[in-house]
Amino acid sequence: MPEPTGDTAPAFATLIGSPLFAGAPEPLLLSMFSGCETRDLARGERLLTSGATNDALYVVLSGSLSVHVPGTGRAHVSVGHGECVGELSLIDGFQVSADVIAEQDSTVVVVEREQLWRLVEATSQVARNLLRILAGRVRHDDRVLGESDRLQRQYEEAATVDTLTGLRNRRWLDDAFARQLERTTRTGRPLSLLMIDADHFKRINDEHGHLVGDGVLVHIGRRLATCLRPQDLLARFGGEEFAVLLPGVGSEAAQTVAERLRIAVATSAPPIADPRCDADRRVTVSIGVATADPGEPVTVPSLIEHADRALYRAKHSGRNRVCA
Ligand code: GH3
Ligand code: MG
Ligand code: MG
Repeated sequence: MPEPTGDTAPAFATLIGSPLFAGAPEPLLLSMFSGCETRDLARGERLLTSGATNDALYVVLSGSLSVHVPGTGRAHVSVGHGECVGELSLIDGFQVSADVIAEQDSTVVVVEREQLWRLVEATSQVARNLLRILAGRVRHDDRVLGESDRLQRQYEEAATVDTLTGLRNRRWLDDAFARQLERTTRTGRPLSLLMIDADHFKRINDEHGHLVGDGVLVHIGRRLATCLRPQDLLARFGGEEFAVLLPGVGSEAAQTVAERLRIAVATSAPPIADPRCDADRRVTVSIGVATADPGEPVTVPSLIEHADRALYRAKHSGRNRVCA
């Protein structure tokens, strides 16, 4: 068997040292190598296309390749000197699962399917190497999946939080509401809803600016949160409105809670730094209370409508008050 010389010697050295061929008898490798072609790729050139058929495996002699899984929008992995691509479709005979593109000017050695299987049959070392490479791919994919799962949960969590107040948002409340109402039917315990609306909030914006208004909304949210039990569900309903779900709480007790919340806001000092009189710095809320008693045919929209009507009465009877 002729020794590789001149130009081919470094390529052969790369092959011998590659994770796929490491430990394989050199004469076997040499015999395979002498039947292989090399291929030069310009930076950005595509070597493999997802969905296409593929009959070869490619070992990187120089440069590097990036593997892109369709739909992910970013490079999945970078394949460098001595590493291989294309082995999956070569093994299972299915179409290529990812796009492979040269990250820089690169050269690969092309190992045809038959050449690889001949080598695998001749030496179990290559089969072992192949298994190790596949195990590495699976572990890498597991890590990527784990990370993507974690990000997914993080995004889902963020999508249910109101960015200004840090409270849960309407979207979260809609979900929670349906579950709580279903539980009311199941457990025979009531569920109350408080709709809370800041009084004359437009004035606060007009007189002190929108940023101060924002700060006051954060303040109101905090005041409400401190007065509730862990099982109560508080959300920013939208604009200057908040909603509270009180699981297991009937109408009378809900009005007591609402009164406590009203007082907590009315007696607090909102973050309005204004030299004018104290009255200007007062912030109040009006609250409408509605209760779903077990056995009643109540829906989420009907309970909200009921609480809204009560809120409307609270506004029209002078604001800073609770109506049921
Ligand atoms: P009422 O007592 O009848 O509820 O009067 P109001 O002024 O509170 O009610 P109105 O519906 O007329 O105005 C609500 C105001 O709340 C207008 C809107 O600009 C303001 N607002 C809603 N969302 C935000 C917000 O995120 N930040 C700020 N600063 N203002 C908001
Ligand atoms: Mg409003
Ligand atoms: Mg208002």
